[in-house]
Amino acid sequence: MIPIARPDIGEEEVAAVTEVLRSGMIAQGRRVAELEERWADRVGTRHAIAVGNGTIALMAILAGLELGPGDEVITVGHTFAATANAILSTGATPVFVDIEPDTYLIDAKRIERAITSRTRALLPVHLFGLVADMDMVRAIGDRYGLAVVEDAAQAHGATFRDRAAGSFGHGAFSLYATKNMTTGEGGFITTDDDGLADWLRLYRNQGMRSRYQFEILGYNLRLTDIAAAIGLAQLDKLDRNTARRQTIAAAYDDAFADLPVLTPVTPVGRIHVFHQYTLGVGDGRDAILDSLRGAGVGADVYYPLPVHRQAYIQERGLHADLPVTDHVAATTLSLPMFPGLTDEEQATVIRAVGDAVERHGGITPDSPAPPGSGPLRAGSGGPEAAVRATTATTASAAAGEPASR
Ligand SMILES: *Cc1c(COP(=O)(O)O)cnc(C)c1O
Repeated sequence: MIPIARPDIGEEEVAAVTEVLRSGMIAQGRRVAELEERWADRVGTRHAIAVGNGTIALMAILAGLELGPGDEVITVGHTFAATANAILSTGATPVFVDIEPDTYLIDAKRIERAITSRTRALLPVHLFGLVADMDMVRAIGDRYGLAVVEDAAQAHGATFRDRAAGSFGHGAFSLYATKNMTTGEGGFITTDDDGLADWLRLYRNQGMRSRYQFEILGYNLRLTDIAAAIGLAQLDKLDRNTARRQTIAAAYDDAFADLPVLTPVTPVGRIHVFHQYTLGVGDGRDAILDSLRGAGVGADVYYPLPVHRQAYIQERGLHADLPVTDHVAATTLSLPMFPGLTDEEQATVIRAVGDAVERHGGITPDSPAPPGSGPLRAGSGGPEAAVRATTATTASAAAGEPASR
């Protein structure tokens, strides 16, 4: 089976870890400090704080913003559960808004309607390696005096108008094994806020500034130097690995250009780092998925049951009506995407997609349109025309009014 993801671990990482192990200094130390300095430099923020994972990065930011019961945070249902769970960990309430049908990212036009007197923060997710419309998110945040927290767990190196993911608000990154950059488990917080950064460093380390002087209630959120050594080697390769992901994505785009499927959209002014390569394939999705797996292609669905539909969210009374999210959860799938994917493996994936779509149909003029997406049915003259019509609409909207995307 060609896996959907495979970490790029080579001799560099082995050598870096061995050196740390031999040094005997294996907990948080100078490797962590070096990794933080380089990540802050890379993202363009005053601070980067390394922590044990991406979930705890989000939880710590929200704790540092002093969120609690009664507060609301606006986010998406189309994400990994950690986004919403981090909000719940503070006692605050996630308020889910719908996504754009083409980018799969928070639909910033819907944010204002979700704001109440209790709203404290906006939490967009830069899903699959594409940054959300941070012009609009930031403008709304400024207008209503709301904090902006970015879930950049999947967006290492992605940019929006030349600014890096994680530099628009307080950013949370994951360094989990399958992310674009990894330390096995790990995470970063990025911020320009000196006070928050100082608080987070204390919070990470039991509230301790000097030995056994506990200034605040803190915990142990630390990353090890063993992990940081892997992170430094991964950071050295990040640009090369991102370029490889983009090359793979471009080859998929070319191969699928004449199929009745929706390939990923990159609005102008953004750099997509393709954590996932996600296709819209219509109502035949589950049959297409089975067919791909039968052909040895480890395709998968991110995410089959959106967060707002999970039982533990529903039990908390957090209902939301998110038709676009539901549609995307039912009609998309993601293909193998990792720097080490060989041309031969990619050719196998491409052939399998062609076969599966031919057998089970892709998006047809009869497919239900993504809610709110407009003219999916407008094309006439077969499936290709329908898809082209949608793509053209997307492209012209992106070119004509970049500020609103
Ligand atoms: C991976 C991920 C997280 C959580 O990161 P961990 O390091 O696994 O804790 C949060 N949000 C999103 C969107 C993710 O993909």
